[in-house]
Amino acid sequence: MSCCSTVTLDKAYSFKGEQQIKHMLLSPRVEKEIKMEPCKEDNYELVSFDALPNFLKDNEFILNYYRSEWPWKQTLLSLFSVHNETLNIWTHLIGFFIFLALTICAVSMVPFGSQPEVNGIEINKTNLSVITLPSIDHMISSSFNWYLPTYIEKEIANEAQGTVTRWPFYAYLFGAMLCLFTSSACHLLSCHSEKCAYTMLRLDYSGISTLIVTSFYPLVYYSFMCLPFYRNLYIGFITAFGIATIMVSLFPVFQTPQFRSVRALLFFCMGVSGLVPIMHKVFVFGHQPVAMITTVYELVMGLFYGVGVIVYAARVPERWWPGKFDLIGHSHQLFHVLVIAGAYTHYLASVMYLNWRDMEGQC
Ligand SMILES: [Zn+2]
Repeated sequence: MSCCSTVTLDKAYSFKGEQQIKHMLLSPRVEKEIKMEPCKEDNYELVSFDALPNFLKDNEFILNYYRSEWPWKQTLLSLFSVHNETLNIWTHLIGFFIFLALTICAVSMVPFGSQPEVNGIEINKTNLSVITLPSIDHMISSSFNWYLPTYIEKEIANEAQGTVTRWPFYAYLFGAMLCLFTSSACHLLSCHSEKCAYTMLRLDYSGISTLIVTSFYPLVYYSFMCLPFYRNLYIGFITAFGIATIMVSLFPVFQTPQFRSVRALLFFCMGVSGLVPIMHKVFVFGHQPVAMITTVYELVMGLFYGVGVIVYAARVPERWWPGKFDLIGHSHQLFHVLVIAGAYTHYLASVMYLNWRDMEGQC
């Protein structure tokens, strides 16, 4: 490693004469020793924005506490140290673990079908507050009850025929976990090298595309479960756009200026392909409370994501007080928190869709 060789040579130069140094440098044995000497210096310094190589220069309003081209070991260990990416890493890593816990809980739960009663609570189309899959507060408050034999026995006893498929729901959970994990990894590892930053950004971009696509699966599948033509049409379109966007994210050839209009068109189509089924759902099922409540959830989700993107693009508050939010409170951290809030809101909407179809039963 270059840092170690430099330190060794500096020390050598201070103790020996110039001729000896020249002799040492000409000696293959010493040259080998210099190369082989392990690096004992583990404390890499954080640097300022001005000292960064171009590929790490992203936000000129964050002035200090940057890691720059650190070796792998130090880069990985920086997960547990303080720098200007610490909260960016941990906000999405905690989000990943929240969604992992929600997934494990959802898998552990016994799904119920079109039963009229669960644990003595009558369920009908207007009683949508009964959620059988876990929310965060539900997870905490009832975590001790889930595995009690009586509860499971009741659930099994109540399980009716006609339970709807879960794959759109799990696809969304997978998309959320992938996005949050790749984002966290991108923030942790990008400081290592230009090549690594390039790769991680591509993966991060693909994770975001996967989250967008899988977000539409519960909405489209459960809304149009009994209208297979529209269900397949919408799922086909959003999947095709998603695959195209991920390819655009991964292959460098698509990053060239000639493909700028193609890239813009793909994202436009992804956005529109999400709005159309929401409007269609309200048009067809507007008379059912669940259609309106889930639409409110989708609007709240859109609001979280929208505000997040504005904060991200505007780079506030650090733009107003450069250097004051280097460690805590800069725009990217706020953006991450808003993304998790949006994803969790969509999770609650997905649970509602699932309950709706469980109650209605198969078509
Ligand atoms: Zn990020």
